[in-house]
Parts: sequence; structure tokens; C-alpha cells
Amino acid sequence: MSTAQTGSSKSSEAWRNWAGNVVSRPVREVTPASVEELTAAVRRAAEDGLKVKAVGTGHSFTAAAATDGVLIRPQLLTGIRTLDRANGTVTVEAGTPLKRLNLALAREGLSLTNMGDIMEQTVSGATSTGTHGTGRESASIAAQIKGLELVTASGELITCSEKENPEIFAAARIGLGALGIVTAITFAVEPIFLLTAREEPMTFDKVTSTFDELHAENEHFEFYWFPHTGNCNTKRNNRSAGPEAPVSALSSLWEDEILSNGLFQAVNSLGRAVPATIPAIAKVSSKALSARTYTDIPYKVFTSPRRVRFVEMEYAVPREALVETLRELKSMVDRSNLRISFPVEVRTAPADDIALSTASGRDSAYIAVHMYKGTPYQRYFTAAESIFTAHEGRPHWGKVHTRDAAYFAAAYPRFGEFTELRDRLDPDRLFANGYLRRVLGD
Ligand SMILES: Cc1cc2nc3c(=O)[nH]c(=O)nc-3n(C[C@H](O)[C@H](O)[C@H](O)COP(=O)(O)OP(=O)(O)OC[C@H]3O[C@@H](n4cnc5c(N)ncnc54)[C@H](O)[C@@H]3O)c2cc1C
Repeated sequence: MSTAQTGSSKSSEAWRNWAGNVVSRPVREVTPASVEELTAAVRRAAEDGLKVKAVGTGHSFTAAAATDGVLIRPQLLTGIRTLDRANGTVTVEAGTPLKRLNLALAREGLSLTNMGDIMEQTVSGATSTGTHGTGRESASIAAQIKGLELVTASGELITCSEKENPEIFAAARIGLGALGIVTAITFAVEPIFLLTAREEPMTFDKVTSTFDELHAENEHFEFYWFPHTGNCNTKRNNRSAGPEAPVSALSSLWEDEILSNGLFQAVNSLGRAVPATIPAIAKVSSKALSARTYTDIPYKVFTSPRRVRFVEMEYAVPREALVETLRELKSMVDRSNLRISFPVEVRTAPADDIALSTASGRDSAYIAVHMYKGTPYQRYFTAAESIFTAHEGRPHWGKVHTRDAAYFAAAYPRFGEFTELRDRLDPDRLFANGYLRRVLGD
């Protein structure tokens, strides 16, 4: 088969994820420019006895996208296919970066309802691992999917929605790349709206003792706790009638660029070189960000640049277990000689109906622990993970964890539904890699 039929194809160099903690060496990589080229690449890989993996922007900290077979790149499968104002949906090519989607929607006076902290990822990469923001009623990005198109291992192009192939729709919205290569996604969209963000420092004791109220009173509540201190920063986002009042250029430069990126980078580098300085620095830096209020369109409130590289583990626990879990995490850090320069992030999501969503069937709270790139993270993450798993935690599929299929079979009531579908759609495991063998079984 010619290169023209399978998209530009070349033997591959080492592939690295954003955090640099996963490296793989695919036999070849393909950058298809159409669904036909992608399908041809999948068929050709099967004929050659090679595994296939589509990659997004490599923002996962797990080896979810790693392959020693054929790596499918997203760059030429991008853009909006259709915009259906009457039904409030947009259909985009699977490789479209979230930032391009957000900007294109805003130009049309439309928006997604909820999103995560950044918008660098592709739509298919983000949804495949269950990327989420924080929300009282509004759930992950995958939960905003209305329809999916995917190429399966047999080279067939399947579409699914609540009405069409509903059993595939129930699983494939968070498919971990295990069920097929997603080629297009239809999202629910709504007329663009304004959010007022209130950022405010608060003590750990106050946030944890009033968490239920803070969650109940706000559409999107989240907070960061600074290890080695009793300090938190809270963020409340609520819909607003306006007027628009964006962050001022000066505040943006100082808080978002200098404090949250430039100075934060310098402080982390110092902490990595001399860990003993971290608790003292944390006490100062946890008080550096001041209270502020601003009103803007959704993606400008939900997302911000993250230039300081890190490694992350995040678990979803039942929402009612959040405060207890977080207190245990804090007392573990307080008792230990760990030195942690990155804040712990806490968010929430309502229960959803996707088989392997971390919020599947239960109201959830997320606790995310981070370590600066290049700093040993295993001891901290191992201690945190044993606290999270004791509270029936479910790890983010794209963030560091050590769980396996036996754990997930107990953690997810619908695990068997997913693996049965995988057996049907990919009996020969064309889309397998080491990560999927661990989390789903052979
Ligand atoms: C700085 C940073 C901030 C982050 N913020 C958040 C956040 O706020 N909330 C959150 O929940 N997560 C967050 N994450 C995690 C991130 O959103 C997820 O790991 C996401 O999956 C990354 O998307 P990606 O496009 O880079 O996909 P990749 O990491 O490249 O791939 C992820 C998975 O999707 C599969 N995949 C990709 N494309 C396709 C396709 N076309 N068909 C089938 N499978 C496919 C891959 O094979 C792989 O299994 C963050 C990560 C970083 C580095």
C-alpha cells in the first residue's frame, strides 16, 4: 500500500510525553489527513502484525498513548465539521486541540459548558482519559459528548450516540484508546455565557469545615492546598449577567505569568536543588496570591497557561469522603520528611453515566498531587495512593497510578461491560499497549 493512501508515514523517533516521564519508540508513525487514510493505516498495521495507538498532545502522565507499533498523529485531522445551532451541537475532527475548539466556538457565540485547567490537549485525547474540570452539576468533557465516530480494529467506521449503538456510546466516550481510533466527536454546546470568578485565600481548616456549603453554593468550586502550610487558595466560578470585567493586564502579568509561572518555576528549581528550603518558601508563596474577582467568557476563566512542568497523580473519591481523605493526606505530609513544592488541587464532579468515568455512578471529588519535574515523586505518590485507595479512589486514567485490572473490576461496577465490548470490537487487541494490558487485562 502506498504512503499516499495511508497518510504521510515515516519511521519514527522516540516519542515523549509532556512531562517527560514516558518514552516509547514506535516502529513508524502516520499522520493521516482523512478518515480514509486513517482507516488504511489501521488496516495496514493489522496486516503487518503491528499494534496501533493514536496519540493526542501527550499530556497524559501514564503510558496510555505509548506504543512500539504504529503511532497515529492527530495534526492533520483537525477542525470543525459541522455546527448545528438548532440542536446545540458541534462536530469536530478528533485531532482538534481544545483551544482551537474553544476559540472557534467563541467566534460563533457558543461554548462548552465545562472544561479542565488547560486547553492544549486534543478533543479525543482529553475525552479518552476522562479529562474534567470542577462542577456541581456539569461534568467532564466526555460527559458533554453527544456522538462519536470511530474506526474499529476491523477497519469499520462506526458512529454511536444515545440512540445509535448505545452500548458503544456508553463506553467509548472514555474509551482509553482501547475500543478504536476516534475520528470525530459531537459535543453539546450552548450560547456563550459569562462567569464571575472569585479567587480568595482561605485556611485549610475553614475550607475543610465549610466544604459542603462551598460546594453547594457555587456552580464550580475548587481549591488548592499548599503542603507544609495551613493555607489554601479557593476559586468560585458562577454564571453572571455581566458586565465583562476581565483580569487586568497588570494582574494577569503579576499573578498568572510571574507568580504562577515565572517565579513558581524559579522557586521549584530552588526547592529541587535544596529541598530543605521548601517549607519556608511554601509559607511565603501560599500567601503571595491575593483575592481577586473577574468576569469573562468560560475558557478564559476555566483555563490558564501551565508552563512549569510536573508529574501528577489524581484520584476521584466519593464526594462525602473528600474532607476525611484530604485531612489524612495533610497529616501524612505533616508527619513525613517529604518536601513538596506543588499545591494539592481539589475539584468535584457530579455522577455521570459513562462506564469507566471516574465519576461513573457517584458524586465525586478529585484530589491531585503534583511533583516538580525531575524531583523523585514515588514516595509521596505511594503514600498518597494508599490513602486514596482506602477511600475507594478511582485514579485518573491519564495520571500516574499503580492500579491494575483486578482493582478496577472492584472499583467500577460497569468494568465488565467495558471489557466485554473490548472483546467484541478488538478481539485481537490491535489497540493494546502495556498500559491497557495492566488496567484492562490481556
Ligand atoms: C499541564 C497539564 C494540565 C492538565 N490539566 C488537566 C485537568 O485540568 N483535568 C484533567 O482531568 N486532566 C488534566 N490533565 C491530563 C490530560 O488532560 C489528559 O491526560 C489527556 O488525556 C491528555 O490529552 P492529550 O490530547 O494530550 O492525549 P494523550 O495524552 O496524547 O493521549 C491520551 C489517551 O487518548 C488516546 N487517544 C488520543 N487520541 C485518540 C483517538 N483519536 N482515538 C482513540 N484514542 C485516542 C491515547 O491513545 C491515550 O490513550 C492535564 C495534563 C497536563 C500535562
